[in-house]
Amino acid sequence: MSILEGRVVIVTGASSGIGEACALAFAAKGAKLVLAARRAERLSALMQRIEHAGGEALAVATDVTDEAAVDNLFAQAVGRFGTVDVLINNAGIADSTPVHEMPLDTWRQVIETNLTSAFLCSRAAFRAMIGKGRGRIVNIGSISARVPRENSPAYGASKFGLDGLTRSLAIDGRKHNIAASIFHPGIVATEIAPGAVKLPEDFAASPQDIADVIVHMCDIPDHLNFYEGMVVQIDLPFLGRG
Ligand code: NDP
Repeated sequence: MSILEGRVVIVTGASSGIGEACALAFAAKGAKLVLAARRAERLSALMQRIEHAGGEALAVATDVTDEAAVDNLFAQAVGRFGTVDVLINNAGIADSTPVHEMPLDTWRQVIETNLTSAFLCSRAAFRAMIGKGRGRIVNIGSISARVPRENSPAYGASKFGLDGLTRSLAIDGRKHNIAASIFHPGIVATEIAPGAVKLPEDFAASPQDIADVIVHMCDIPDHLNFYEGMVVQIDLPFLGRG
């Protein structure tokens, strides 16, 4: 039996891509899902899909950059399921603007969505987890947290920041038995940045492939932290020159 059976898992950015695939993969392990994103109809459809397969899920339309909305998300999760065991900070957006053309508003939007949201959700998760002395947080980083792409100054900065936040959360989590970790996907076929990278059609990983690894990072005994993971294409130029 999986340690995730009956555990309460919040996934942000659950309305598409990696987040949606994560929700389905956690549900397949018997976890209870709390689905967060702005597009309520998509969350509703996903909730029904999980319930039709015999699982339990709650959809909470949430803008994760909004402090009150995040606190409401956690209040609803605890109200319905009594606790929060796992948080997947997955919500994210990309930019594709060179630094000299980037409006301050775009910078702020990317940083707030990719980084500030993870702070807000992790703070709420800590508050829910500290009392019971157990919990797990996985931040979805990117290979851009190691090597940024051109024309994405805000995205690169947000993912480097997320890497730093993860380290702080992992240290602060020690005395509460809360594990914080980060997972870096390579190129994944999702809606996030269509056409941003020109690659062969079958090059990208599927969201399901990535979700299975993220679930695996959480399907370990509570006193262990699968601190960091990365999945890249074997021949991704990221790894170095030929
Ligand atoms: P998608 O665009 O498919 O998913 C992004 C999700 O984030 C959507 O569900 C979206 O939902 C949600 N989201 C965006 N802004 C907000 C907000 N303000 N509040 C709540 N939810 C929000 O892209 P991916 O699945 O690819 O992205 C998921 C994560 O994976 C991101 O953090 C991304 O940086 C990371 N990643 C992706 C890679 C890839 O190649 N695809 C590579 C490396 C990392 P909604 O619009 O309904 O709010």
